[in-house]
Order: sequence, then C-alpha cells, then structure tokens
Amino acid sequence: MSDKQIKKILIVGGGSAGWMTAAALSNALRGGCEIQLVESASIGTIGVGEATIPPIKLFNQSLGLEENEFVSKTMGSFKLGIEFVDWGKKGTRYFHPFGTYGVDFDAIPIHQHWLKAKKEKQVENLDDYCMAWAAAVRGKFHPPSRDHSKIQSTFDYAYHFDTGMYSRYLRQYAEARGVVRIEGKVVNTTLDTESGYIQSIKLEQGKSLEADFFIDCSGFRGLLIEGALQTGYENWTHWLPCDRAVTVGSEQAEDIIPYTRATAKTSGWQWRIPLQHRTGNGHVYCSEHMSDDEATSVLLNDIDTKKTCDPFVLRFSTGRRKKFWNKNCVAIGLSAGFLEPLESTGLHLIQTAIRRLIALFPESKNNGLAEQEFNRITIKEYETTRDFLILHYKATQRDDSEFWNYVRNMQIPESLQYKMDHFQTSGRLVSDGVELFANPSWLAVYLGQHHWPQHYDPKLDLNPNKDALYNLQHLRELMAKVAASMPSHAEYINRFCKAVM
Ligand code: FAD
Repeated sequence: MSDKQIKKILIVGGGSAGWMTAAALSNALRGGCEIQLVESASIGTIGVGEATIPPIKLFNQSLGLEENEFVSKTMGSFKLGIEFVDWGKKGTRYFHPFGTYGVDFDAIPIHQHWLKAKKEKQVENLDDYCMAWAAAVRGKFHPPSRDHSKIQSTFDYAYHFDTGMYSRYLRQYAEARGVVRIEGKVVNTTLDTESGYIQSIKLEQGKSLEADFFIDCSGFRGLLIEGALQTGYENWTHWLPCDRAVTVGSEQAEDIIPYTRATAKTSGWQWRIPLQHRTGNGHVYCSEHMSDDEATSVLLNDIDTKKTCDPFVLRFSTGRRKKFWNKNCVAIGLSAGFLEPLESTGLHLIQTAIRRLIALFPESKNNGLAEQEFNRITIKEYETTRDFLILHYKATQRDDSEFWNYVRNMQIPESLQYKMDHFQTSGRLVSDGVELFANPSWLAVYLGQHHWPQHYDPKLDLNPNKDALYNLQHLRELMAKVAASMPSHAEYINRFCKAVM
C-alpha cells in the first residue's frame, strides 16, 4: 500500500448526510479505511427531510436493510407520489406519480393519445390513467408487481419517515461496522501550507483530529468546504426564490394517506407528510414577500390536526457549492447545496453523492481526475433537478400575489426554456436521458399546471387508431379495479411494518 493512499477518513456532521455516508462507506470499504465521525449534540441537526423519492429503496437495499424493519423503526409510511394543490390555478389539483402513465401504444406515448382525446372532449384527467394515483386516491398500498405484463408493475413508491430515527438506525449500522463517533464541536481547521489540503480539525476541548480525506456533512454551515476551503457558492435564489421554511409537527391524522401533499400558498407552498406517529407540516416561503410571523400563522391555520410542538423557522439560500469536491474534501448534504424541499430531493442528492464517491474512490490523497469527474456529474445533476423544480413555479397561471407574478414572469435557464418550448409545440418531452426526473414527472407538472401544447403528435392524424379511446377507457377501468383490490395503506402498515410506539 502506498503511503499516499487514503487510510483515514473523517466525516464532520451527524445528520442524515453524515450517517448515510458513514453507513455506506463502512459497508463499501469493509474495514479497509479507518472512519471517524464528529458531531455536536449542542448544535444538533436540521431535523427535517421526511419525504423521499423511489431510489431511496436502492440505497437501503445496498446496505442490506430489511424494508419492513426499516419502516417500522423510523415510524414510516409509503409514498406513491405528491398531490399538488392550487399550483396551476387556485382550486385545481394534480398528482405527480411515481411510475408511468398507463402503457404506450402504437409506438406513440400514451399522453399523446390522451391529448388528442382531450381535444375532442372524450376524456377527463390524465391522473385517471396512472396506477399510482388509482391506488393513492383510494388510500391503498401494496408494492408493485415484478411481472412487467401486469398493470401493477407500472408504479413505484418511496417512503415518508422520521429523519432523526433514520439517522439513529444508520448510526447503529455504521458503528457495528467500525465507524467511531466522536462527540465534539469543531472550532478550527488546519490546512497544509503548500497544497492547501486539509490536515486536521480541532475540537473545542482542544483535541486535534487528522485524516487523509474529509467529508463535510456539517449542514448549511459548510464548515470545511466553505469555512476552511472557501470554495464559493452559486446562488439560485432568482430562480428558486423561497428562502425560509417554518415547520411544525401535529398529531397523526385518522387517515394515513400514501402520498405527500404540497399546497401552493400566497408566497410559497405548504407540505403535509403523514407518518405513523405524527404528521409533518411545513410552510416554505419567500421572505421578500412574507414575514416569519405571517408564514407561521398561515401554517398553523392550515394544519388539520393538533400541533405537538412549537413552530420552528429555518433559513436557506437555494444554490450549490461551486465545487462539491475540493482538494481532499467532499461536501455531502446541505453543505453541498440546497434546491428547496419541493419534490423531496435532499436525501436523494446525498445518496447519489455517496454512490459517486464510492465509484470514484481516489487511489491517492490528491487525485484531480476523480475530483473533476465527481464535480462534472454532480453539477449536471443539480442543474437538471433545479430546472424541474423551477418548472413548478414558472408554469403557473396564478396572478393573485406578487410572489406568483414574479415567478410566472421570471427569466428561466435556457436549458429549461428549451424543454418547455418543445412541449409547448407538440407535447414532446425531451431529455438527455440521465436526469433524475424522467418524462412522466415532467408531464405531470406540464399538464397538471395547464401548460397545454399547441398540437398533439402529428403522427396520430396520419394514421388514426379507431381503438385509441377504447384502449384508454380499458386502462382506466383496469387500474381502478386493480387498485380497489389492494389493501388500504393503514392495513398494509398494520400487517407488515407497524411501529412500536
Ligand atoms: P444537518 O442535519 O444540519 O446536520 C449537520 C450536522 O453537522 C449535525 O450533526 C451538526 O451537529 C454537525 N455540525 C455542524 N457544525 C458542527 C461543528 N462546528 N462541530 C461539530 N459538528 C457540527 N430532503 C428530503 O429528501 N426530503 C424532504 O422532505 C426534505 N425537506 C426539507 C425541508 C427543509 C425546510 C429543509 C431545509 C431541508 C429539507 N430536506 C429534505 C433536506 C434534508 O433535510 C437534508 O438534505 C438532510 O437532512 C441532510 O442534512 P445534513 O445532514 O446535511 O445537515
């Protein structure tokens, strides 16, 4: 082993990012490296991040976690997508499903057949052709079938869970695999005078900790990536202007729905996340248009069960670190950047950063090529995800507040404008194929927010299919029938993964 090899890794921070990283690295490196994690109980964690997207299942599976045990230990529930209320126009709603809309036929995407039928006033909502919504609207849940000939295979799911319990669960996992946790507050960092690489960190109690490689999971502070290395931040507030959230827990609702709800408000939006022991609520808003007190009162007026704690205000700036990997430090979690909570991408960006770090694990302490590749892919991932989030604001018709007027009229990135122009012309969905949010997600937002294309696919008029309407009706009826036969979400939880309160 060369003496330049990485033998000691230090993770700073023990929130979701820190413990997800510690768990995954201890599993992947299998004792080949010494891993330490420093966290400070006096500082604590951000304590939000309870809704996820389907790839989280892959992360848990890669660690060998058993699904029912994980859901039970984190007071979790299942999530089939997000219901968006009042986004396109007040009084309207749509569902962003996990999975696809029905199945394509005649080698033409199903939404094109639907657009044609809609123009002829022969169909109603696009949501009716989506298995995830068929189950969600009936309060049903069962994992999808692996038999791809079945309609039950066309949806996917993720989880809602208590983020503190998830971190504790992963801590046990990581410590059992040799990760050493150190309690302490980092007060200083020492850099190598020649290379500028991080040499050590100093704790408040005076102790110094050295390592070959550092992972900054210190949250918005970015203690190492910014505090020590001054990497710089690319601010995206002009595109994603919400910069605060007020959160509050409330009692568990009678009905535990299998989806997140995101309701648009005058200057932002509000989330509702059902867990087994409580409901998570938060109001995300733009401080230029609403005060903290007003935002708190909007939130408290709109929660549907009794609050269980005091509301708590969080501040953030949407954007990303100019480099995610800088010298011998990688930033993972909120220290790397934040796009805002819409569409629940925070934990996912942690998961993909960890996967990328493991794939590019450097041969030596200074490996510029691995750093370059990590940054190249991560920047692309942040930018494509950012564009999808911006779409929710840009594609609105709301004109009832300064906030909505601003986002409706704002300049958007060229990359997003290009996609919107394609859809506007003939309902065409374009993507470079490696994006987190695939075509059905874009479709859900475009059509759910009444961003109608001028035409449907011209091929449908060149070769009309007399059975298209019948196919659509059949799909809708089949989905409704299959969904009706599933267990309710509550029944499924009670049977397989009920938490011990
Ligand atoms: P933190 O939780 O802030 O942890 C930072 C850690 O660093 C803590 O352990 C702290 O003690 C430690 N630390 C800091 N300074 C020091 C120091 N000086 N010395 C020692 N230790 C220190 N993501 C989703 O996927 N789904 C969601 O629904 C979602 N909702 C969100 C809602 C809001 C309002 C916000 C702000 C974020 C949301 N996110 C969501 C993102 C998600 O919360 C984060 O990605 C996730 O919690 C990871 O946070 P973190 O570990 O990076 O930071």
